[in-house]
Amino acid sequence: MSDTYNLDTRLIHENSDFEEGAVNKPIYQSTSFAYDTAEELSQVFKQQAQGFTYTRINNPTVAVFEERMAKLEGGVGAIACSSGMAAIATAVLSLVEKGDQIVAGNSLFGGTYSLLQNDLARWGIDTTFVDTSNLDSIRSAINDKTRLIYLESIGNPKLDIPDIKAVSEIAHNNSIPLVVDNTFLTPYILQIKEWGADIVIHSTSKYINGSANSIGGIIVDLGTFNWKKRNTSGFEDYYQFGPFAYLAKIRQDLFRNLGVCSSPYNASMNITGLETLAVRMDKHCKNALKLAEFLAEHSLPLRVNYPGLASHSQHQLARKQLGNQFGGVLTFELEDQGQCFKFINSLKLARNLANIGDIRTLVIHPASTIYWRLDEDKQRELGVTPGLIRVSIGIENPDDIIKDVKQALEAIS
Ligand SMILES: *Cc1c(COP(=O)(O)O)cnc(C)c1O
Repeated sequence: MSDTYNLDTRLIHENSDFEEGAVNKPIYQSTSFAYDTAEELSQVFKQQAQGFTYTRINNPTVAVFEERMAKLEGGVGAIACSSGMAAIATAVLSLVEKGDQIVAGNSLFGGTYSLLQNDLARWGIDTTFVDTSNLDSIRSAINDKTRLIYLESIGNPKLDIPDIKAVSEIAHNNSIPLVVDNTFLTPYILQIKEWGADIVIHSTSKYINGSANSIGGIIVDLGTFNWKKRNTSGFEDYYQFGPFAYLAKIRQDLFRNLGVCSSPYNASMNITGLETLAVRMDKHCKNALKLAEFLAEHSLPLRVNYPGLASHSQHQLARKQLGNQFGGVLTFELEDQGQCFKFINSLKLARNLANIGDIRTLVIHPASTIYWRLDEDKQRELGVTPGLIRVSIGIENPDDIIKDVKQALEAIS
């Protein structure tokens, strides 16, 4: 498919030519792939010939999803994983060794924060968490053991916006890659390669899939980082793969050995999801702005946080980086947990559950759910207050979403 088409057209037509004229890639629900000769199988194993061997390593259906995601992000290749967390853990662990250090934003998805703060720390890999709006704090956090900078394209749950270009310059001045979790925005809203990121990660469980029917994640190498110049060891065996060094290392090493592959069925669900990404994102963003404006006008919320509102402290940066679409997630604050619970229990349309990026409108009280293990001080540091409600706005009719929120706010006043 020609790259001259716009992204929304490419989403629909890319790779829609398969065996027997099928417009969808069949689901290759097979663990393993046979070859006529021992020589052929050996060559495929040694990557001297193209082909599939075992679905824990690669699979034709999963490969189509990987190709599509790589193309959408403008990358050299991708590796689909069993979950977003599997993708994050695999991508990060493939860049570090015992004694290394990571610099990460301090507004991160709960699982990512816990992985870096607890698990990696136990294995001798330290993470320094920084306020990404303070470039000096990023610069001073970097030392000669730093192997990557990790960010989310919109911080969660603070909904803060990192200046990706500026952070990427800091990373590249130190010969380390910038890894960005772009789950909240998707390549339809933010072409992160243009802003200097090197590796992009998605929890495809969210907007990429869209209908909340498959847990999955993906790692895309944007082809911008020179792995040979990397200021550490561990890649020597993979230099022969040139721009594919990082992906080759992952696939032949941690990805294979941890067994974090995507199922072919989930990959197929995600391919279907991708086809409607543009229309869904347009509606998510439009509905989110409408709800944010409604909440900002309403007397009850103490604060409404949405990058698309002029009142957002980084609205100008959001405009510069994102244009005029700001994603489908907003937060707002009520007085306390009691009010939040009453609000959530009064909703009739929005669902109370732990997810974002679904076509359905979802709400959650983060302090008592996703972040319940952390004490209140730690929660506040991450932007989670007792009165905080997070909304992932769906693609229903916006009048119905607002009507539901309005009646639930009336129920608590
Ligand atoms: C959900 C999410 C993850 C984790 O993804 P899973 O598919 O649930 O493992 C990581 N990052 C962000 C920003 C997320 O929203």
